[in-house]
Order: sequence, then C-alpha cells, then structure tokens
Amino acid sequence: MKVFNTMTRKKEEFIPLKKGQVSMYVCGPTVYNFFHIGNARTFVVFDTVRRYFEYRGYKVKFVQNFTDIDDKMIKRANEENITVKQLGDTFIKEYYKDADDLNIERATVNPRATEYIDQIIEFVSDLIDGGYAYDVDGDVYFSTKKFKEYGKLSGQNLDELQLGARIDVDSRKKDPMDFAIWKKQKEGEPAWKSPWGMGRPGWHIECSCMAYNLLGETIDIHAGGADLAFPHHENEIAQSEARSGKKFANYWMHSAFINVNNQKMSKSLNNFFTAREILEKYDADVLRLFMLSGHYRTQINFSMELLDSTKSALDRLYNAITNLESLLSKAVVNDLLECEKEYVKSLDEYKKKYIEKMDDDFNTADAISVIFDLVKDINTNVNINSSKELMQYCLNLIRELGSPLGILQKTKKGNIEDEIKELIDKREQARKNKDWALSDKIRDELKEQGIILEDTPNGVRWKKM
Ligand code: AMP
Ligand code: ZN
Repeated sequence: MKVFNTMTRKKEEFIPLKKGQVSMYVCGPTVYNFFHIGNARTFVVFDTVRRYFEYRGYKVKFVQNFTDIDDKMIKRANEENITVKQLGDTFIKEYYKDADDLNIERATVNPRATEYIDQIIEFVSDLIDGGYAYDVDGDVYFSTKKFKEYGKLSGQNLDELQLGARIDVDSRKKDPMDFAIWKKQKEGEPAWKSPWGMGRPGWHIECSCMAYNLLGETIDIHAGGADLAFPHHENEIAQSEARSGKKFANYWMHSAFINVNNQKMSKSLNNFFTAREILEKYDADVLRLFMLSGHYRTQINFSMELLDSTKSALDRLYNAITNLESLLSKAVVNDLLECEKEYVKSLDEYKKKYIEKMDDDFNTADAISVIFDLVKDINTNVNINSSKELMQYCLNLIRELGSPLGILQKTKKGNIEDEIKELIDKREQARKNKDWALSDKIRDELKEQGIILEDTPNGVRWKKM
C-alpha cells in the first residue's frame, strides 16, 4: 500500500512499525458545538482509511481525541452559563450521535484532554527539564529555537515561518514563534494545580501527550484536516520529538477542505451546514459517497445540487442490490452454471482493480468508478436465468467493495413491490412537472430491473417482463 506522506511530500510504501498492525492518531473535534460537514469530511476520510486497513487485514488502533478545554470551550460555556465540563459532556454525546448516524466506526479510544491533565503536567515538566520549555510567571512556553528541526513538516525554517505567520505579540515570550504549552489561569477560567501554579494545558500539548500515552513514542500515522499541518502538527512534532528524541509519526496524512463557493466551510465564515441538518434530508450513504467521490487530498465544493446528483448515483447502486435480492428470491437454479465460471472470474478483475486504486493512497474516487462499472456489468449480465450462486456472489461483491467506504450495507426493509410503487410515483410526479428526461430515466431504470410500465386510463400499471 502507498500513502502520501505530508512530511516527505511523496507517496511512500506503507511499512508498519509492527507487522499487521497500524497505530493511528487523528486530531478530533473541539466539543463546543455540533460538527459541520467540513469537519465530517475529515472524520469520514480517516474512518475510510481505517476501514480499508482493516479490509486489507491490518489490526488498527485508532485514537481520536476530544478537545474539551480551550478558549472556544470557555467562551461558549460562559455564554450558556454552564461549566466547561457540562459543555464537553453535552457535545461529546452529540458527536457520537452524528458520527454513528454517519456510519463512522467508533475509535478504539476517544481520550478527552481534561482526563490527561496529570500526564500533560508530566510532559511539560520533562520539556522544561530538557531545556526545551520555560516558565514565565505561570505560563509555560515551548522554545522553538531549541528544536533544531522546527518547520520540517511545513518545509520551511523558522525565519520563513515567522514571516508568513500571524503571531500574537507577547513580550514574555523569548521568541515570537514560541508557543504556550501551559496557560496560567485567568479569572473565571477552569484550572488545575501544577508546579507553575493554577492553569490549563495549551492545545498542541494534549495531542502529543495522549498519542504518547495511548500509542507510544513513535506511531505509524498521524492525521487531521489540512489546516492542522501548521502550526498544530508542527508544534506536536517539536514537543514529542524534543521529549523522546525519536521520530513522532512515520506518516503524516492531511485531508483537504470542503469549500462553499471556493471558500473553506467554517463556523467563522458562517457558510456551514451541520452534519445533522444534512442527515435529516439525506442518507448517510449519500453524504459519504459525496465526500469520497473526490480524492481526500483534493478540495471539494459543496452544494445541495451536488448532493442530489450523488443521491441519484447512489440509487443506481442500491437498485442493483435490490434487483439482485429480488432475483435471488425467484431464481430456479442453485449452483453456479458451467457457463458462468468465466464470468465470475471476470468479476474478480473489478475487485483487483478496486484494491489497486485503494492501495494507491486511498484513491476512493477511482475505486467508486470501479464499483459503478461492476454494477453496470452485473445489470447487463445477471438475470432471472442466472444461478442463485452467481446472484449471491454479485451481491456480496458489491457490498464487499462498499464496506471500506462505509456505504452499500443497507438492506431495504420494504419489499421490491413497494420500491417499484415508489419509483412509479416519482415518475408520475416527474410527468406532472413535465420533466420528461427524469420520467424516461425512471422508466428505463425499471426496465433494467425487468419491469414494464403501461399507461392506462386508470393510471399506471406495471408487469414483469
Ligand atoms: P475543529 O473542531 O475546528 O478543531 O476541527 C475538527 C477537524 O475538522 C480538524 O481536523 C479540521 O482540520 C477539520 N476541518 C475543519 N474545517 C474543515 C473543512 N471545511 N473541510 C474539511 N475539514 C475541516
Ligand atoms: Zn491534534
């Protein structure tokens, strides 16, 4: 398998630290609000990466944190007149609800920053002892100049970074690029006792600390959204490697944004949709298929129209599944026919191609095209005269290729007749709207499933071919 490593800017062969195992840390949400579909892309992408590793036989230890203490948390809790802990509890619960609805597998561990305060204090102390950090009247800063390789993930040295960065002017720092790893308590803020007085951890330190405690000094993959590469991941590297003297992560993966009108979807621009709003209107499969239809390192644009066309595309895949299920209930031949053997072999070519695409840095876009090609082939070649074994094989194969993407696993509860009626109603509606293209498309879709429509004075009737 090949993975694009942000650190080297190259696709590299994936070689795990321990044979057959993957240790993976993904930066998770700050739990002060519902997550939007931009955040969701990051979660879905790395859920897919994890599922695919599992599909390829790896055992994955997957850690994704909850940032439950920072400025945004404190501000929101004050506005709501609740404690930061209550706010965190609430939105962690909401996170699970939406993530479950999005068919995101639960992480092996979801550590909360506030549950690691003792370990964070230990980490900060080690950095001070090692000469990498300094305490100024209760605030502790990491000294970027002390870590000689600072900037290696961004591919820039300290001077270049300094020119490009927006740096908060703080006269107490020795260098403008130094960053806080422990913050002194301000009035009304939650705080913990530490050797430097009452305070709370900075943001970057929590990930270094939890990755170390849960996965070890060196991990296979560290991942997050593209905006985290600098400064968050750069700072994590500095802290972790300064402390251990070892490489922090072998592979750095970053997923690109979802944009709206070519601007990043974000809370501050107020151009976002929460995952929950979208999931009220669209199935999780639609949203996942939409997100995975682009390569994870390519930005994608969001619009409702795009979701609608993704839904139609997904319907094509599910129609094939329903069709196979219905054929299975009617087929007369059980065992694979002699003449089908070659065909089964030809279907395996799709699986090979799919694996080739996914092995190539998780190219879900091309892998999805392979699934569409497979379904087209099955629609043309499998019919009521085929054997049950072949039908079942096809059904299993479609589901198998959908599973690393977290799609195509649903069985329609209703029977096939209900589905046909639903399509006929949809066609009637299209005809009323004079949308002849859609009405013809539905007729053709039904024909593919072996259903013929007859327009009679008493309405539409259907029969099997
Ligand atoms: P936050 O809750 O802001 O800390 O973000 C959680 C995760 O979502 C991080 O990994 C971000 O990089 C990612 N993220 C934020 N906005 C977007 C976006 N528009 N598209 C994709 N990922 C995003
Ligand atoms: Zn992080």
